[in-house]
Amino acid sequence: MRPASAETTAYRGRFAPSPSGDLHFGSVVAALGSFLQARAQGGEWLLRIENIDPPREVPGAAASILHQLERLGLCWDGEVVYQRDREEAHRAAFAELKNAGLLYRCRCSRRVAGPGRYPGTCAQAQLGKEVSGADRLRVDNRPIVFTDALRGAVSENLAERCGDFVIWRAENWPAYHLAVVVDDAAAGITEIVRGGDLLDVTTRQIYLQQCLGLPSPAYCHLPLALDLDGAKLSKQTQAAPVSGLAAERVLSAALRFLGHPPPDSLLGATPEALLAWAVAHWRLALIPPDDRCPAPADLA
Ligand code: GLU
Repeated sequence: MRPASAETTAYRGRFAPSPSGDLHFGSVVAALGSFLQARAQGGEWLLRIENIDPPREVPGAAASILHQLERLGLCWDGEVVYQRDREEAHRAAFAELKNAGLLYRCRCSRRVAGPGRYPGTCAQAQLGKEVSGADRLRVDNRPIVFTDALRGAVSENLAERCGDFVIWRAENWPAYHLAVVVDDAAAGITEIVRGGDLLDVTTRQIYLQQCLGLPSPAYCHLPLALDLDGAKLSKQTQAAPVSGLAAERVLSAALRFLGHPPPDSLLGATPEALLAWAVAHWRLALIPPDDRCPAPADLA
């Protein structure tokens, strides 16, 4: 492990897994893509365990993720950040939004609010904090735009797309969007390279950065790895853990998935040798243009 330098570096990336299960092929792709994008630019690569959702946390998963990353040769810089230790910063950001009059209490259950656009049922109700519920952030009726390094220009109007969204949960802990935005800014992350499933929520995070006066990092969403049924590989759908497979096998498959098949001369090479080759040859332009790609059958 290299110490993270105190000075600002030109490039700082990160991998931010939730400890809701073991590392699967989809998370290896996100880890490897963000690692290579950072190392190819001589940048730092930080690791943050996003353990703010206790019911979804699987005991032992955080330790197992760290072990798997080390086994794959994906060595991070500095200390691992555990998101739950960052509660004070999350609460401070919450207070800032509250004082700016941007939040309101919402008692709609997830079931009532549904997965689609929130219609603003509680927006004018002025419910007090004694009413149990979540806190929602009022969104603007204007486009939020950014350019993804792989997906190109994205423009979304949050009022039309998702409506006001939850940033503090009824269980009294921060929602993912608030925690991720606050923690990436505190760590000085300059580019976020992650799975394509999160492309959809990026404008929400950019809007939140704007509300909090935080800089927006660059974004790069990698193709999403699909299982044999064409569904996203995820810990929830019991994607096969990579722990039972040789590190070289997993790395070679992830490199192929990202459009960087290692040459035959590296057959049987160590993870370190594979990664050194990949850092030297890494080019975003080689990554397949599809936003979703099947994972290799034995890794799905
Ligand atoms: N913790 C999230 C996950 O495991 C990823 C967050 C991010 O990369 O922004 O899906």
